[in-house]
Amino acid sequence: MSRSVLVTGGNRGIGLAIARELDAAGDAVAVTYRSGEPPEGLFGVRCDVTSAADVDAAFEKAEAEHGPVEVVVANAGITKDTLLAMMKEETFTDVIDTNLTGAYRVVKRATRGMLRMRRGRVVLVSSVVAMLGSAGQTNYAASKAGLIGFGRSLARELGSRGITVNIVAPGFVETDMTAELGAEYQEQIRKNIPLGRMASAQEVARVVRFLASDDAAYVTGAVIPVDGGLGMGH
Ligand code: NDP
Repeated sequence: MSRSVLVTGGNRGIGLAIARELDAAGDAVAVTYRSGEPPEGLFGVRCDVTSAADVDAAFEKAEAEHGPVEVVVANAGITKDTLLAMMKEETFTDVIDTNLTGAYRVVKRATRGMLRMRRGRVVLVSSVVAMLGSAGQTNYAASKAGLIGFGRSLARELGSRGITVNIVAPGFVETDMTAELGAEYQEQIRKNIPLGRMASAQEVARVVRFLASDDAAYVTGAVIPVDGGLGMGH
């Protein structure tokens, strides 16, 4: 059965791969994009997740097209890396506002319809660094660790309503975000990954597709690593 799906930051990278994966599985997918153009062949709605009004308008459009959102993937995210000693307050709060408060805005809006339907799937895109920590990423790691506490609390709030909430924690994935890292640093990262390579965005997307599927009906409040073994034991 085709479900109404909304993926934030779905115009490129991991979000686009998730949107394509769910589209291929037969869902009716809406993607939000902040800049540029919506991806070809998918229903796009412009939305900056730092604005509650934008988020509401995006849901209005997606729901007018596909009906109440049954699967939401909070994927939009940014990095603004620097050591804490050099980090301005707005560099910290900008990252929290997009990655954590942005997910709050999106998920809160999505659960309105899910509560009425008494079913739904929430997937939050966190990161291995939420658990491992990462020098130069205090802002980013805090935002991604925050998603775990947020998601697990929400899983407890919504479990009795047939809504699952899960978190994926990717390691290093080949996207624009990691392309910014120099070749030397990327090589150093690879040496620490048991599988010896970075992930493709599609490898993350397939796990999200599983969490959104009926096969994952009894999985909630879980943190699923998709990191080639990088975070083992954390
Ligand atoms: P990209 O930088 O390739 O894409 C980020 C996406 O988020 C873009 O679509 C971007 O839109 C969107 N976005 C950023 N800020 C906002 C905003 N304020 N409002 C709406 N959309 C916004 O990143 P990835 O695909 O690599 O990452 C996707 C998610 O996965 C992020 O949450 C990231 O933290 C997480 N992640 C990534 C890893 C990696 O190795 N790549 C590892 C672990 C987690 P626009 O095109 O307009 O900028």
